[in-house]
Amino acid sequence: MAAEYDAVVIGAGSVGNPTAYFLAREGLRVLVIDELASSGQGQNKAAIGGVRATHSDPAKITLCRESLEIFAHWKAETGTDIGWKEGGYCFPAFDEKVEATLRGLLPTQKRFRLRIDWHDAREIQRIVPGINPEGLRGGTYSPEDGQVSPLLAAESFTREAVKLGAVYHYREPVVDLLREDHAVVGVRTDRGEYRAKTVINAAGVHASRISALAGLDLPILPDSHEGGISAPIQPFLDPLVVDIRPGPEGRTLNFYFGQNSDGQIIFCYTPKPVIPGESRDSTYEFMPIVAARMVEVLPRLKHLTIRRVWRGLYPMTPDGSPIVGRAPGVDGFVLGVGMCGQGFMLGPGVGKSLAALVAHGRPAIDPEVFDLLSPGRDLFAGKKEALK
Ligand SMILES: Cc1cc2nc3c(=O)[nH]c(=O)nc-3n(C[C@H](O)[C@H](O)[C@H](O)COP(=O)(O)OP(=O)(O)OC[C@H]3O[C@@H](n4cnc5c(N)ncnc54)[C@H](O)[C@@H]3O)c2cc1C
Repeated sequence: MAAEYDAVVIGAGSVGNPTAYFLAREGLRVLVIDELASSGQGQNKAAIGGVRATHSDPAKITLCRESLEIFAHWKAETGTDIGWKEGGYCFPAFDEKVEATLRGLLPTQKRFRLRIDWHDAREIQRIVPGINPEGLRGGTYSPEDGQVSPLLAAESFTREAVKLGAVYHYREPVVDLLREDHAVVGVRTDRGEYRAKTVINAAGVHASRISALAGLDLPILPDSHEGGISAPIQPFLDPLVVDIRPGPEGRTLNFYFGQNSDGQIIFCYTPKPVIPGESRDSTYEFMPIVAARMVEVLPRLKHLTIRRVWRGLYPMTPDGSPIVGRAPGVDGFVLGVGMCGQGFMLGPGVGKSLAALVAHGRPAIDPEVFDLLSPGRDLFAGKKEALK
């Protein structure tokens, strides 16, 4: 006979682990299944760990604010250091267009009581010591945003979920969903069947494949992004710095970098054009391009020793926003998918609300705001988020 759970979570990643933790905290019997060998081995470990609430979409602002709250208090709550660093985010402006974009976002961000302000060039030079002053017009700074280690966070959410009774199965791909009438009632893996009142799809770049098993057509397509990390250096840089100018080389849309709690410089860029598909081989051009951009913005980084680069995937949706909530027309099936480039920062907020939805029938945040990410929305209605 199939084992019985209150909830089965498909995917032990950025969304699945916090979801399992909050479900277990609600006292539910939870099974997490991942096809890989341990937690966080999908795209979670590709993230550089930036966490900010300073978006332009109300649902993302609210969920990421929840995430910040959870990350910031994690050590006090569990005793485990996950590399939390409250250094903020800084978006410098080196031209009029970027300044207008950043200033244009401030009213929305302030409406949500986010701590973010425009600062003049001199103040930005204080916030980002050594930033190139040439053409610097100022920038925004949000001191309450921060960084976390994705590797430590995945491990810690898993450990805490297990302490609360959650069960993890690794190296076990979900190959089918068990269905009765209009409901999903469990999953089938290559090892067996597990029945559950609720099945949560948190399968990242494979979320479409899982949803298709329930008869849903979800357009979540992967595209790839590279990141890297240096050897540690003396701490000098508080915020993550995001330069939203397209690069002069014509190959980058924007780029960002910061210094983590171990002193390592972490960095990434958005390639132009986007690179669709699941290839995760590093490209020959990433390091020369990102090095030139970083040294241009912060010349003192020119002697950095780079330790490692990697390439990972964003699970992208047509409108650039996640798909979160009960699947339309399919009972017992819940979605936490389509996280795009922000699944690590959204994970705890999404997980807490999904657990509340499953346990109590309503999310942990204002249901109207939560519904903005509803699977039932028109995903092709147009792009909403200004700073993806
Ligand atoms: C270079 C780079 C930098 C990034 N930086 C950031 C950042 O600073 N901040 C941020 O918030 N985000 C960042 N991201 C994005 C972030 O990594 C993703 O949005 C996030 O990890 C997606 O979370 P997820 O839970 O949906 O997927 P994942 O973390 O990939 O989890 C999905 C899990 O589902 C499992 N799975 C899939 N199919 C099956 C199946 N059939 N059976 C069993 N298990 C299955 C997978 O093995 C995987 O473990 C970055 C991404 C890249 C590539």
